[in-house]
Amino acid sequence: MTTTHYDLLILGGTVIDGTKAPRFDADVGIVNGRIAAIGKLAGHTADQTIDATGLIVAPGFIDSHTHDDAAVLSQADMSFKVSQGVTTVIAGNCGISAAPLRRDMDLPMPLNLLEAPPEERFTTFAAYLEALRNTPSTVNVAAMVGHSTLRAVTMESLDREATPEEIAAMQALVQEALDAGAIGMSTGTFYPPAVKATTEEIIEIGRPLTARNALYVTHMRDESGKVMESLEETFRIGRELDIPVVVSHHKVQNSPNFGKSAVTLPFIQETMKHQCVSLDCYPYTAGSTMIRTDRGMLDGRVLIASSVPHPECAGRDLDDIAAEWGVEKDEAARRLQPGSAIYFLMDENDVQRILAFDETMIGSDGIPVGESPHPRLWGTFPRVLGHYARDVGLFPLETAVWKMTGLTARNFGLDKRSTLKVGHHADVVIFDAATIKDSATYAKPTTPAEGIDTVIVNGTIAWQSGGHTGARPGQVVTRTPAVAAPAK
Ligand code: ZN
Repeated sequence: MTTTHYDLLILGGTVIDGTKAPRFDADVGIVNGRIAAIGKLAGHTADQTIDATGLIVAPGFIDSHTHDDAAVLSQADMSFKVSQGVTTVIAGNCGISAAPLRRDMDLPMPLNLLEAPPEERFTTFAAYLEALRNTPSTVNVAAMVGHSTLRAVTMESLDREATPEEIAAMQALVQEALDAGAIGMSTGTFYPPAVKATTEEIIEIGRPLTARNALYVTHMRDESGKVMESLEETFRIGRELDIPVVVSHHKVQNSPNFGKSAVTLPFIQETMKHQCVSLDCYPYTAGSTMIRTDRGMLDGRVLIASSVPHPECAGRDLDDIAAEWGVEKDEAARRLQPGSAIYFLMDENDVQRILAFDETMIGSDGIPVGESPHPRLWGTFPRVLGHYARDVGLFPLETAVWKMTGLTARNFGLDKRSTLKVGHHADVVIFDAATIKDSATYAKPTTPAEGIDTVIVNGTIAWQSGGHTGARPGQVVTRTPAVAAPAK
């Protein structure tokens, strides 16, 4: 036998390759940031060797839905993600992106959730990606341009639809972002800066997406009583632009709508026969977003995650704060703005049905701001692997891994990422299937998960034995236009 020398050898593990195929025992050899061999590799030499006996060796997880645009620069070690096994994040969701911005503007909620000081704002998408290439994060980043961000930089007032001149200006910004490497455009018509945007406005602004087959990704207008109409609008935009659409963090919220996922999912499945549609979900019955004062959002328990005027209220129930202040819940919420909160508005049965839907990807939607974030920021991926796959038995571990790797790479067009194959980028997570567990809770939301042994990004060990190695090997990831055609 000729001896091959590897940069890194992972020996004795069980491979789950991210394609949903059954696990198999194999060693993995890495050279120059790529997977060089999968098979029996004992006896070969390496600069570094990891003993993965009794552990699962899987592709690094892709977080399909993040708000990490600013964090990948300002919290570049990205411990809250890499500690879960995440090696790639999709940024620029819900209509909000870190670029393009102006330094002379006030950011309306929820754009200010990204929290970049004005002097550090990027006026072009190219400048943002350039900064990421010059000062890499620990994780890979694929980024989208946000429609609400485009509105905020282009329009004098956001409480109306855009004029033809404004649409043309926004189209040019979409084109600039795509030329720089953006993988698509997101919208958040649920949020005040984009509520008044019509379907036609979004289609026109999105015109440059078509030539690149770039993605349209949306936090829909309504995930409550009008969720079906919102799905219709989303699919129409995809059809008119002839591009793939992603329904972000699919959910049905507020108690009158509990159970409606039994209707939305068959509708999504039927539509998938005719056009390219995908969706993601986070594994919790509570959502988190900016502090809002509308009745629908304040229906259930509300936990304050952060508040600029009242930082001391982070981690407390809105009910308790309102009682202490002697005011109604909505008035207390108004006084706490700007900030973010956690809203308990979903039913566990819907969450499980959506997670178990074959095409559903896993995305955290974590907001990396403040001391008391939603626990999904630190716990999403281990929660799906440990709680939902192993303990609840919602799907096999191979399916769980696929929902956070191969499926996501396919839907977002990330070439040679997140399936373990020779020639692919060496993003790898080694974990213990018996002990993996999310430890982050609503009370202790920033606790790292258990059971993650080693996380490798582009061939470099970034996390090992519960600690960050200090490595920042993340790359800017762009989209391969040739993506899977819709299922026939
Ligand atoms: Zn969202």
